[in-house]
Amino acid sequence: MPAESHMRPRKRIILLGATGSIGSSTLRVLREHKDRLELVGVAAHSRHAELAQICHEFAVPQAMLQDEKAYHLAQQSGDFPSSTTVNCGSEALAELATLPEADIVLVAVVGAAGLRPALAAIEAGKDIALANKELLVLGGAHVIEAAKRKGVRLLPTDSEHNAIFQCLQGHPANQLDKLILTASGGQFRDTPSHELSQVTPEMATQHPNWSMGPKITVDSATMANKGLELIEAHWLFGLEPERLEVVIHPQSVVHSFVQFIDGSILAQLSPPSMTFAIQHCLLYPDRAPGVEPTTDFRTAFSLDFKAPDFSKYPCLQLAYDALRSGGAAPAIFNAANEVAVERFLAKEIAYLEIPKLIEHSLSRLQAPQQPSLEQLFQTDTETRALAQSFRF
Ligand code: NAD
Ligand code: MG
Repeated sequence: MPAESHMRPRKRIILLGATGSIGSSTLRVLREHKDRLELVGVAAHSRHAELAQICHEFAVPQAMLQDEKAYHLAQQSGDFPSSTTVNCGSEALAELATLPEADIVLVAVVGAAGLRPALAAIEAGKDIALANKELLVLGGAHVIEAAKRKGVRLLPTDSEHNAIFQCLQGHPANQLDKLILTASGGQFRDTPSHELSQVTPEMATQHPNWSMGPKITVDSATMANKGLELIEAHWLFGLEPERLEVVIHPQSVVHSFVQFIDGSILAQLSPPSMTFAIQHCLLYPDRAPGVEPTTDFRTAFSLDFKAPDFSKYPCLQLAYDALRSGGAAPAIFNAANEVAVERFLAKEIAYLEIPKLIEHSLSRLQAPQQPSLEQLFQTDTETRALAQSFRF
């Protein structure tokens, strides 16, 4: 171990969503950097045996299971080490996120459920590594305000935003012209539009480049994911929709572009694996060798780019519209999309009905301007009820 790393205290991390796709990439980073990073708390929804295994491997003192049944099963099975305290219940996620001994909270739970724990962690003065994008789409104004007020870092872990964050280092905001987010185009990029009516959940949960959780994989296919990311970029970097663009880049090697007012464009490149962005956030502002090989230009490969076809990806247009409408409209977009994806995966609605359900929700519900946090949660609840009950 280099002498220098003895001197530096280890960063203490809480990982919300430890058993998911981001969670497992984070564990790979932690395994490589045990001298710099320490896991002090983990949360998962219901996979108790996996969570217990993580607690054994990383000697984690605090754990949380969202699902009560899983929590009781874990108590009975005695899976967890005796040195780990395990909690459950609706407040437990936010409590874990505020543990006094933690320096940084990586929010990698899926969906709007990430908002309350993220806000609690910010109020407790923790830095945040933000993989979850839905929480910014729902409560962006409140999250940004709280982070500024508390002087904590919001480190973008979503690969596009991490790329932009890296490219912006050292550049004042008034030199920035626009952000260009890359998108793989998802698994149906080359499927003719008329065949999309046949798409099944099995087909929509396979991604050609990225290995991710089921919700974001479906979101990539519809490009609702890129829509959520536009809104995420608006909050993280303070740009209006006119200065946020999307380009289809099938190889997922360029993770986004930053264009400056003089026309120069910077990009960040790495293979399509989340370990690069996760490590960048957890070690920030330091760097250390990565956990896997990076892009190698000694092997020939090509990088392609093309403009997205909005008629093929109506969710992308709906996200731009929601961002332009402002107020609680992005919250409606997000909640309707979450329900639509759940209903599609449960085979209740068809693939092409996902954007229809979002459009219906946006047109039927009132979106208050400058909503309070409570109004946002209320809009979220109302949207879910509407989207859940709608019959095509
Ligand atoms: P996933 O479904 O693989 O994992 C989600 C994790 O969160 C699991 O550990 C699950 O147990 C836990 N979880 C879910 N709901 C919870 C709750 N209410 N309380 C406690 N734990 C809960 O999802 P993922 O692909 O890892 O994505 C996580 C987040 O990161 C999403 O918001 C996604 O959009 C974002 N993201 C993912 C990727 C990726 O490559 N997977 C890339 C960029 C951004
Ligand atoms: Mg992304």
